[in-house]
Amino acid sequence: MANYAVALHGGAGPVPGRDYVATEAHLECLANTCNERLIAGAAALDVVEFAVAELESCGLYVAGKGSAPNSAGYVELDASIMHGPDRAAGAVAAVVDVVNPVCVARGVMERTPHVMLAAQGALNFARDNGFKLVDDAETYYVLPVGVTAEDISEQKHGTVGAVALDNSGALAAATSTGGTFMKLEGRVGDTPLIGPGTWADDNVAISCTGTGEHIIRSGGAIAVAHHHSAGASLTEAIQRVLAEIKRLGGDAGIIAASRHGEIAMAYNSDGMKRAAIGSDSPLQVATFDD
Ligand code: ASP
Repeated sequence: MANYAVALHGGAGPVPGRDYVATEAHLECLANTCNERLIAGAAALDVVEFAVAELESCGLYVAGKGSAPNSAGYVELDASIMHGPDRAAGAVAAVVDVVNPVCVARGVMERTPHVMLAAQGALNFARDNGFKLVDDAETYYVLPVGVTAEDISEQKHGTVGAVALDNSGALAAATSTGGTFMKLEGRVGDTPLIGPGTWADDNVAISCTGTGEHIIRSGGAIAVAHHHSAGASLTEAIQRVLAEIKRLGGDAGIIAASRHGEIAMAYNSDGMKRAAIGSDSPLQVATFDD
């Protein structure tokens, strides 16, 4: 019987004591929709793009509509997507005014010879290729659930991501963020980087969230893939990278799916908004430790 699996995260920045009922309900509904699509034969790449675009558009997470401004007062977005079977990958970094950075990242992957476009070039590409743009940035962006105005000045963070295995055996991963709050103008974290933020190959699909500078310096997603291909279980592989991120002074969360349909989700922060379901895994939805 074919295996399929999907895991979603809404960032590793939740604050203990705050109410995440709305995001958990949203993640549960989205995971179920992704699962139905996978059962119906959808491709992993389409499922992760669909999931991340929905997480970007809903305004509940620090990505897309829920993104917080940089220290210069405007929103800059990062996103990436990767397809395991052919290692095709696309990304946008420090782009403004696009509604769904993950869709533009897929556009970069499929319509250009490049892996990443940044800043004005990414916006020009999005405009020239008909991707949806924000009409009025002043009114479009909202504070996501569980984020207060005070958080904006405290360098908190959030991100969204998805990994999936489809019933043809293909794996894919995608990640999108507004980045850390009050980041310097032009700062780019791990999220759009193929390797640290997002990775998919024949064995695993991985999406990271957390303090991007530490994720980059630990290797992030691709380090998980290397530990796993060297024999560590998916959970052990994630724990090793989380330990290295902690040693460097950061906090993070990582989700992964394997070609066998295993799902692993772990973090060393206070929590990670997350949901997963698959042919071998009942629905799981949580924000903090169970
Ligand atoms: N990793 C993201 C960044 O550093 C933030 C996050 O995941 O919360 O931009």
